[in-house]
Amino acid sequence: MKPAPFHYERPTSLAEALDLLAADGVETKALAGGQSLVPLMNLRLARPDVLVDLDAVAELRGISRSGDQVRIGALTRHEQTATDALVRERLPLLAHAAVHIGHRAIRTRGTLGGSLAHADPAAELPVASLALGAEVDVASARGARTIPIAELFDGPLSTTVADDELIVAVRYPVDAGRRPFGFAELARRHGDFALTVAAVTLSVDGDGGCRAATVALGGIGGSPRLVGPAARALIGTRIDPAAVELAVASVDDAVRPVADLHGSVAYRRAMAALLTRQAIAMARGAR
Ligand SMILES: Cc1cc2nc3c(=O)[nH]c(=O)nc-3n(C[C@H](O)[C@H](O)[C@H](O)COP(=O)(O)OP(=O)(O)OC[C@H]3O[C@@H](n4cnc5c(N)ncnc54)[C@H](O)[C@@H]3O)c2cc1C
Repeated sequence: MKPAPFHYERPTSLAEALDLLAADGVETKALAGGQSLVPLMNLRLARPDVLVDLDAVAELRGISRSGDQVRIGALTRHEQTATDALVRERLPLLAHAAVHIGHRAIRTRGTLGGSLAHADPAAELPVASLALGAEVDVASARGARTIPIAELFDGPLSTTVADDELIVAVRYPVDAGRRPFGFAELARRHGDFALTVAAVTLSVDGDGGCRAATVALGGIGGSPRLVGPAARALIGTRIDPAAVELAVASVDDAVRPVADLHGSVAYRRAMAALLTRQAIAMARGAR
């Protein structure tokens, strides 16, 4: 199928892009990598009047270290997130997660900002960004604000970013980025969207005690999210089998999967528990 007719704009500055998004009375959509929006338009599930192509907006690009954070521009392609030296060194979980996205052709077009804004429940970068405690910088013609990643997702394919706002960049704390991490996902075939995704970070002291932990899951019904009780079950322990069992049990309480073509509720629950266990084991092995 082909998309419904639309008007195409290609702004060359952030201010120009934000002015276009602020226009009243027309449905305006940002176009980043097009890997989610264009299929939706071709199926006529999205019918924007105006498409604002972000590709020439330099302010949305770049990866840099700023104090105790790494800032990644919203237009950063998944392939760059997977291969960039600074991301690999300081945010290895994010680079690792990006490699799992689709196939290379998808990764060379799709962007970090697009992935977070699209908010697919089982997308890799939202889950990794939750585990890393990212902050999302957004802007509109009305001004700029920062959304903690835990407040970004408010339902399947839905975020707290307003229609006239753009994600400009995502900032990741280096401290969380350097922690040992675990990442596990279940996909039917290589390159398929995951059914369930788990990401874990651990901070372990010299005696093997867990000082801090995050557990994030996607593909569990609703939005991807942090599972606080699972992290708390690990903190203050030596991550012994009993603590891991408690963490995994709390995942079962937290998830609300829905049955679909790919699996029953019970199957998805079992996968969430299994992948959490695998991600914790990977993080423990890495410390
Ligand atoms: C065959 C196939 C397989 C795929 N497999 C996976 C996979 O395994 N894992 C995965 O995570 N993804 C997968 N994807 C999706 C891919 O990662 C997309 O790149 C991503 O979901 C959206 O990013 P994009 O840059 O392409 O955004 P677009 O498609 O351009 O936009 C998506 C949405 O985000 C909005 N948007 C884009 N940029 C911004 C911004 N800066 N600020 C505010 N809103 C913005 C758009 O208006 C639109 O609503 C797959 C896609 C395809 C076609």
